[in-house]
Amino acid sequence: MEQFMTRYEDLVRSKKRTLRGYARDLALSGLSLAASEKYLSIPRVQFLYIHHLFIDEEKRLDALMKRLSKHHDFISYNDAVDKILNGSIDKPYITFSSDDGFKNNLRAAEILNEYNAKACFFINPGIIGETNFDKINEFCIGTLDFPPVEFLNWDEVSKLQQWGHEIGSHTMTHMNIAAANTAEITDDMHQTYRILTERCGQIKHFAFPFGRFFHFSEAGRKSVFEAGFTTCATAERGCHINPLTPISGQDLCIRRDHTVLGWDMNHIMYFLINNAKHASVNNNFYPDTFK
Ligand SMILES: [Zn+2]
Repeated sequence: MEQFMTRYEDLVRSKKRTLRGYARDLALSGLSLAASEKYLSIPRVQFLYIHHLFIDEEKRLDALMKRLSKHHDFISYNDAVDKILNGSIDKPYITFSSDDGFKNNLRAAEILNEYNAKACFFINPGIIGETNFDKINEFCIGTLDFPPVEFLNWDEVSKLQQWGHEIGSHTMTHMNIAAANTAEITDDMHQTYRILTERCGQIKHFAFPFGRFFHFSEAGRKSVFEAGFTTCATAERGCHINPLTPISGQDLCIRRDHTVLGWDMNHIMYFLINNAKHASVNNNFYPDTFK
């Protein structure tokens, strides 16, 4: 039967063992949480990456926003980047982003709007507006390793922009850059940049698919900026503090924390506290393997 997934509890059921193991690993760390919330007052920029917002996660996002607003100012993705590049991080800031362009990002944006929080949505132009279930199913299972979910259409992408959110590139169809050759990467970068600027106006930001360093390459990094993007993001955990000397957009390695609203909120807070506790100027740079 053609059915899109709409509930986080169904996702958990489909991936039961992994998520249970994950929860177990983090259960103990929740214990010391209350004592260490003081680290959240460290001036820094934290990028949160919220992949999906299923129906049963909506209230949790609202609760998380309330909790985060106690310690942080919410700023746009663009302003977050500028603060790092200008070395003007004077208090704790959080910005938001999401990848893959699921239709439920629209609901996430509505909740962010209530807190005057802005996000950058990294989309794959090749799947935006697709409504054929079989194609979506193949893309989700074959490429994303995720159950089938609905995707945004271009009108909804425009709506996000009208609300003040930004749009960024995530390659045409979620390319694993580490497994692609230079010509494939270059072609894709230029194509997505052209399509997105035609559809959405000025486009600055890029986030590479899958997000870990081993999904990226130096050739990929170079082609991002050569195509016209001015920032590049990973999904490696960590926060950003002021660099000791000025840093360029091309050298900045944006780190984002994958955040699943379905997790226990203490687990989400644990990651943020841990990042703040280990804040380092080194997080602004790519590892040496990219030199
Ligand atoms: Zn992705």
